Amino acid sequence: MLVNAKSDIGLVRQTNEDNYVCIDPNLYIVADGMGGHVAGEVASNLVVEAVKNFIQERENKAEDVELLLREAITAANNLVYEKAREQSEYNGMGTTISMVYLKNKVCFWAHVGDSRIYLYRDNNLQQITKDHSLVWDLVANGTITAEEALNHPQRNLLTRAVGVDAVVNIDTGVFNLHTNDKLLLCSDGLTNMLPTETIKNILATQTDGKASMLVDAAVSAGGTDNVTAVVLEN
Ligand code: CA
Repeated sequence: MLVNAKSDIGLVRQTNEDNYVCIDPNLYIVADGMGGHVAGEVASNLVVEAVKNFIQERENKAEDVELLLREAITAANNLVYEKAREQSEYNGMGTTISMVYLKNKVCFWAHVGDSRIYLYRDNNLQQITKDHSLVWDLVANGTITAEEALNHPQRNLLTRAVGVDAVVNIDTGVFNLHTNDKLLLCSDGLTNMLPTETIKNILATQTDGKASMLVDAAVSAGGTDNVTAVVLEN
């Protein structure tokens, strides 16, 4: 698996609330935090570290990988939720998480929020995850178009996040990896700045450093948010 990752603060924000982790050869996570002052950064960092540690302590004994990912995110949710309740500067903080765990050519994924996981296969780009956001729901029920969603005033409003409520509802899934599959994990700072066609074209190239190319393209396109991409090439 060829791995490339990059995170950039962008051109507008004062802090980078995105976090990611790449633990070769099997664990890859992107998280996009939210909250005032440094709270967003704290939330995404806490969750990425907590999930990583939880999995590393148990992966050798775990028989059900999807359950392991769920338990890891649930434990991270509890941690952030408690910290947010205990310290006023962290009230209301939370984070997205999109993660994959690879085992014997099988991709297990788990997801909460509006970061995304894409699968590039046979010249097609497929979004594996659904956004847990108000605009996703509005597009899904036909109230607005995908185009209108990009400029919707409430496009940042999440319907699910890690650490915000005592209980978190987690999406998980599993699929077999094929030769030449590419996986992209990214924050919404990438997908809000770049058309899907541009993302697909960059993933289609033969060049190394695709995550850097994607992030640099999003920053060049305006960089109004933090931008993070992790690209895995099988
Ligand atoms: Ca973001």
